Amino acid sequence: MHKVYLGLGTNLGDKEANLKTAVEEINKRVGEVTSLSAFYETEPWGFTSESTFLNAVCCTLTSLTPQEVLATTQDIERQLGRTRKSVGGIYSDRPIDIDILLYDDYRLNTPELTIPHPLMWERDFVMVPLREIAPEINAKAFGIKREGVCP
Ligand code: AMP
Repeated sequence: MHKVYLGLGTNLGDKEANLKTAVEEINKRVGEVTSLSAFYETEPWGFTSESTFLNAVCCTLTSLTPQEVLATTQDIERQLGRTRKSVGGIYSDRPIDIDILLYDDYRLNTPELTIPHPLMWERDFVMVPLREIAPEINAKAFGIKREGVCP
């Protein structure tokens, strides 16, 4: 079994329901969800929007490969009504976004998947909930010198 941390975010519709449904689907289709952070209200990051985000991080134990986790989480995003992908780093409102933050201590750098998620260390909306459920996670172990460079 592989220990995977997923970052979740939503800023459209019933945000709390979106997060809960996404976590239920992860539990069914990716693997048992062993921990879930509180839900944090945050400002949009990388674009302007009138709707704030609700963010959370969960830990799941999975037998899926990283690519299978990505395919499954993307399917859950579609199921929850996400139609527009961010293209060329342009972000937009979304009912749910699921990022693979960590997959055991794997490092992967392919066109479709980068693990650890390259922006996670500088995003408070990821690191605050992650710290809550996994205070032992150490950026330095992944070669990251500095966290929290969020403006
Ligand atoms: P987004 O629209 O922000 O959900 O971007 C998702 C795209 O980023 C997908 O098409 C993935 O192929 C790619 N991607 C690269 N690394 C990751 C990761 N660690 N977790 C989720 N998506 C990733």
